[in-house]
Amino acid sequence: MIKKIDHIGIAVKSIEEAVKFYRDVLGLEIKGMEVVEEQKVKTTFIPVGDSEIELLESTSEDGPIARFIEKRGEGIQHIALQVDNIEKTLEELKQMGVNFIDELPRYGAGGAKIAFIHPKSTNGVLLELCQRD
Ligand code: ZN
Repeated sequence: MIKKIDHIGIAVKSIEEAVKFYRDVLGLEIKGMEVVEEQKVKTTFIPVGDSEIELLESTSEDGPIARFIEKRGEGIQHIALQVDNIEKTLEELKQMGVNFIDELPRYGAGGAKIAFIHPKSTNGVLLELCQRD
């Protein structure tokens, strides 16, 4: 039911600044930029082999990424696991008592369907389930 680590989400103050490291120092390719208004976030994906790094920058002072950086500073914010069928996985995990932040899958960057599992169910890690078609 879980296929692989789809991506690792890193909260940054500025994507423009952060890509200087990934692109110019590590030589990785940046895959466009997207604003997800309802999450008050701007994101870009950087493919690394079979997985990706997602850089997240807040578009608003009260967005979840801004609050994360305020509390913990820049750094890893979530890990995303790719699944075949997010509705089914979400239902099965809920039945096993897993707590979700998203009761239903919603739209994420890159056209993926995503749902976040609450860190209290995962030893403190914000886990995203993500389905790409
Ligand atoms: Zn993500």
